[in-house]
Amino acid sequence: MNRRDLLKGFAVVPAAAAQQYEARTRGLAPLTIKSAKVITTSAGGNYRWIFLKIMTSEDGLYGIGSANNNYQAYAVVEALDKHLIPFLIGKNPDQIEDLWQSGHLRTYWRNGPVNNCVLSAMDMALWDIKGKRAGMPVYELLGGKVRDAVPCYDHAAGNDVEAAVAAVQKSMANGYRHVRVQFGAYGGGGFIPAGQASRPEGGSTGRVFDEEVYVDTVARMLEQVRAKLGPEPKLCHDVHSHLTGMNAVEFCRRLQPLQMYFVEDVLAPEQIDWYAHIRRICTTPQAVGEVFTHPYEYVPLITGRLIDFVRCRVAAIGGITPAKRLAGLCDYFGVKTAFQEGGENDPVNQMAAYHVDISSPAFGIQEENGFPAAAREVLPGCGEIRKGYLYGSGRPGLGLDINETLAAKYPWKPVQRGGMYGLDRTVDGAVVRP
Ligand code: MG
Repeated sequence: MNRRDLLKGFAVVPAAAAQQYEARTRGLAPLTIKSAKVITTSAGGNYRWIFLKIMTSEDGLYGIGSANNNYQAYAVVEALDKHLIPFLIGKNPDQIEDLWQSGHLRTYWRNGPVNNCVLSAMDMALWDIKGKRAGMPVYELLGGKVRDAVPCYDHAAGNDVEAAVAAVQKSMANGYRHVRVQFGAYGGGGFIPAGQASRPEGGSTGRVFDEEVYVDTVARMLEQVRAKLGPEPKLCHDVHSHLTGMNAVEFCRRLQPLQMYFVEDVLAPEQIDWYAHIRRICTTPQAVGEVFTHPYEYVPLITGRLIDFVRCRVAAIGGITPAKRLAGLCDYFGVKTAFQEGGENDPVNQMAAYHVDISSPAFGIQEENGFPAAAREVLPGCGEIRKGYLYGSGRPGLGLDINETLAAKYPWKPVQRGGMYGLDRTVDGAVVRP
């Protein structure tokens, strides 16, 4: 190579590099929200799923979010359609925090299950858009992965001890290290069968719930599961708010020797001050907050170190933005997250939790949720659980899409009794908190 060629070579490389640098630092064109629509679907099952799709001024750039609320589904759809969407049109989708704050204050009366789900749908869709815009999964924008995958706890249940033990063994064989074990359905172990016990004249003759029966029966069941399976399974149990006051304290005291991974919602959200009493007498770890919809339900429990895991559903507290804020608070106080997944929950909400879980140092565990084949076709790219670990698709944004044609093929099934959550009652006919 002569001197002239050598200089030419030097000149070419820096120019190309400079061009690449210029392209990398040019920034992105301004973006606006052009339109948005509500998509509802049963996804070929009994689901009442609600999604929001936000379209931007850039062709093909849109985001999807979950407004999952099985029990107030129509109210959420109307709130999205009539109140949120008109507020969103023309806004800058990059300003997620500002849109969350103004979207939150826009209703004047705020928080609660309907408002939060509406905000959640917007928030998740905006993070989805931002991730696609950046060409990165949302967790990269939250700081990147701090773990290789998201461990989940499995659901095991049996109507007797042998069945419960077998169910936990099955979960372990499927790769789960954490298993929640129940005596049948929620409240199981605490039911007095139909026709038994002295009843009020003209009252219910059906199955009724009894707190003291629950405390004794479930504690005995868990003792036997632990005795049969040894220390390996990280056992959880969900009381589903079925206990009050000292019965909740006594239940946790009974479980003290079993080294539970956690006991969930021994008390209803209206009775959270009792957690201080549980702390004084035992170290049974407390997972709390599946039905929380206001920060001041969880903030004092976390800052007081009165609980060990916070159990909120991401959609129920308003989306990824408040979930990452909650995880940050947990991090400072040594409390962990265990975001909730119910059987009626959807893959978009699951992926929102995944992106926070995998990027958060305060993560503890994630509740599992699997979806049938038809639902996975409606939402291509949804998460997968393999051997007890949840994986995302790795694609930019939330990592999953919605097939609107398929979604429309599966409308909601007719709703019975207003779509209410089924409630248990005591022997005298009073309602039990779920
Ligand atoms: Mg629960």
